[in-house]
Amino acid sequence: MAQAERKLDEVPESTTVVVIGAGPAGLTVASLLRRCGVDSIVLERRSRQHVAQRQRAGIVESRAVRMFASWGLADLVLGGPPHDGILEFRVDGKSHLVDDSDGSEGPGARLCPQQVLVQKLTATHLADGGEVRYETADITLHDLTGDRPTVSYRSADGTVHTITCAFVAGCDGEHGVTRAAVPDGHLTAHTFDHGIGWLTVLADAPPPAHPLLAVSPHGFAAHFPRGPHSSRYYLQCPPDDHPGAWPDSRVWDALRTRLADPALTAGPITDRETFRLRSLVHDPMQYGRLYLVGDAAHIVSPMGGKGMNLALYDADLLARAVRDHVQHHDDTGLRTYSERCLRRVWSDQEFSHWLTRTVHDAGDDTHCGPFLRNLARARLDRLFTSQTAAQAFAELMTGLDPAQDHPAATGR
Ligand SMILES: Cc1cc2nc3c(=O)[nH]c(=O)nc-3n(C[C@H](O)[C@H](O)[C@H](O)COP(=O)(O)OP(=O)(O)OC[C@H]3O[C@@H](n4cnc5c(N)ncnc54)[C@H](O)[C@@H]3O)c2cc1C
Repeated sequence: MAQAERKLDEVPESTTVVVIGAGPAGLTVASLLRRCGVDSIVLERRSRQHVAQRQRAGIVESRAVRMFASWGLADLVLGGPPHDGILEFRVDGKSHLVDDSDGSEGPGARLCPQQVLVQKLTATHLADGGEVRYETADITLHDLTGDRPTVSYRSADGTVHTITCAFVAGCDGEHGVTRAAVPDGHLTAHTFDHGIGWLTVLADAPPPAHPLLAVSPHGFAAHFPRGPHSSRYYLQCPPDDHPGAWPDSRVWDALRTRLADPALTAGPITDRETFRLRSLVHDPMQYGRLYLVGDAAHIVSPMGGKGMNLALYDADLLARAVRDHVQHHDDTGLRTYSERCLRRVWSDQEFSHWLTRTVHDAGDDTHCGPFLRNLARARLDRLFTSQTAAQAFAELMTGLDPAQDHPAATGR
């Protein structure tokens, strides 16, 4: 009797890749695999509606736009207008426009909010015949170092499912289950805390003409477009501040002061949270047949807008590596996955760290002192006056890397 019940309960299945998490990383891995005929099953803890509404990043960088174009997906998965390539720094109220297009040919960055990318990736993947299972619980991973790992989970109706696969893609973000399934001692975590807090606010209020970073003795602030009628704002605050300390009137007063824009139009605030600026890298990004992708492997402090874009970078490398393994019996991509991802991760961490320190130290010098404040001001001055410095900045913003993105380097 007990055995009969167990058979009713367990539904054994098989696929090439089990993708855990249906955020930007997981949906991109699954969509790209689908494009080259490799089957996968995506397991997501939350509902489709919940995942599709999560608002975070706002710009898909040039490198990622070209990545989607190379898979024939750019028109299908990217919404929003092209980014005009201009970033505004406002220092003590004085505006400096920096061109962040790097002069290379091909499509540039897109103002595509993360939730739009997720919605479009989901729709495209499902229309292509892909499979995403929402509201899955109790995911456990087995035999990751064997030839055929298994993933078990419980679906919303309580049924226990077991899927055998060749690979597991751990795309379940910072607090997921996949990295936690790696036994102690196999991954090294590199962490950094900037000692800086940010309040972030989403509001139905007009977007700025260009993404705007404001530096002043009042503290850092930023204003980014998130759609034709919505904006995301950031305000530097004490690292352990609470959103409750920021009622609407305080938010708009601080923004008007720090952005040096007394006429800034306010609007209904739809989301408000505080967090610490920190960075985290897990090395390597692989354990047996489990490959970590996106936030499951690394967190980048938000300055520079790299978190989602790194997730897309990892996803592209993993999809190509699995394709080469399945279709050409070539394991080079799988063997070098972690090393290639980490090269990009550390480059973006360095850029994000540089920009974070520059825009915070150059403003309020309470913590960093006048010496570091003057160094940061010198870095900004160089960025505004030197074409070479501006070009280096643009290359880092667009995410293009001659060593990795040249066709000869990638074998595309
Ligand atoms: C306020 C804010 C602003 C940001 N701004 C930017 C920006 O401007 N530019 C930028 O590039 N990046 C930005 N980021 C970072 C960006 O949002 C992340 O880097 C990106 O979401 C990473 O994608 P991911 O798919 O790896 O992880 P996630 O988006 O976290 O997706 C992980 C998915 O896995 C699911 N999951 C978790 N646990 C389980 C489980 N046990 N079982 C099954 N599924 C599970 C989750 O529900 C989720 O759907 C920002 C982040 C925040 C918080």
